[in-house]
Amino acid sequence: MGQCLFCQIVEKKIPARTVHEDEWSLAFDDINPQAPVHTLVIPKRHVATLQDCGDEDRLLLGHLLQTCAKVAKLKGLAESGYRVVTNTGADGGQTVFHLHLHVLGGRHLNWPPG
Ligand code: 5GP
Ligand code: ZN
Repeated sequence: MGQCLFCQIVEKKIPARTVHEDEWSLAFDDINPQAPVHTLVIPKRHVATLQDCGDEDRLLLGHLLQTCAKVAKLKGLAESGYRVVTNTGADGGQTVFHLHLHVLGGRHLNWPPG
């Protein structure tokens, strides 16, 4: 996936502020933060959306959620709370088609989203 923006971030061809990196995942700060903390957690392997995950991705999906909790702790959100969101497809508002989980916090987040 040479043209994929987030694959290029994984390959360090495009710079990003890395928060956490391991064998399966990369976490980096969003370029246009919507809250005091806004970090994206992505699989290093290209997967377009949550809808494209199969049984073989069970461990990966669990790992990504655990990475969100790790990021929340690193960012000081473990006590105050935070939100994890994955926008999927057109109605979900997805703009980058490489699976990513948003970790948002540092302020009160309204619900439901608009
Ligand atoms: P989506 O709308 O697909 O759920 O989220 C895509 C997110 O990626 C947006 O919050 C957007 O600000 C972020 N984003 C887009 N391009 C870049 C980039 O080049 N670097 C970083 N760090 N974030 C990006
Ligand atoms: Zn990709």
